[in-house]
Amino acid sequence: MLERRHLFPNVIELNYQAQRRFGCCVYLVYSGSDWLLMDIGYEDTVDELIDLIRQLDFSLACCRYLVATHADADHVQGFFRAKELLPEAKLLAHPDARSILESNDRIAAFAEIPAQNISIELPNLKIDQEINEGEQLRLGELDLEVWHTPGHAVGQLSFRCGNLLFSGDNIFRDGCVGSIDAHHGSDLPDFIDSLRRIQKSDVEWLLPSHGPAFRNDSELLQSAINRLDQYQHMADFGTCALDWPLLDEWEDELARGIHPAD
Ligand SMILES: [Zn+2]
Repeated sequence: MLERRHLFPNVIELNYQAQRRFGCCVYLVYSGSDWLLMDIGYEDTVDELIDLIRQLDFSLACCRYLVATHADADHVQGFFRAKELLPEAKLLAHPDARSILESNDRIAAFAEIPAQNISIELPNLKIDQEINEGEQLRLGELDLEVWHTPGHAVGQLSFRCGNLLFSGDNIFRDGCVGSIDAHHGSDLPDFIDSLRRIQKSDVEWLLPSHGPAFRNDSELLQSAINRLDQYQHMADFGTCALDWPLLDEWEDELARGIHPAD
């Protein structure tokens, strides 16, 4: 049996536990003998992760939930295999993430990026239960508050548990945010709303889906919000922008016959 290395009370993160990087963060939250996993990563690491969980003295039959924070392949690909090993567990996702996964929408799930020759497997996943904004996910004595935090992806969920927020791909410790990509359903105004919500909350710790946990930091969030706010009026993210003021200026200059050297 292995000693549990807690990230926070009732929270184990499996990369941190193993002291090496498997892939995305995989949070094991438990209360008494009941436990859940938040995201799972790629399929080729699942057996090792489940074996690790077994060595931490969790009963596989007591896994209540497998939670998809969103539908991206690097977070969910392994859930098919995980369901085989944890048949009692219910797979949970937001309705919008469910649509992507159950229709095997490979573009929206980042399993297929033809222009970059990226093509990875995305098993057909069946969601057992939808969860959405305002609901409480009960696990033993713990309640996890469900937040819908779209922006990076449609149907992205975060979960508040006391002073912790499992924050998905909203923001990372270095101030980066989850990738912004129109084909993936990214939405800048929604993204900004999600970041503001996190910023305004009294949550103390953010537990992201990539990289280390970090303190909720208003300045870090503000700088990400400011950056995304600029993107809304820049060409950098193409159709994700709301407008591009340069084109209005140009139209005006064209109408007035202004030469670039004027
Ligand atoms: Zn991600």
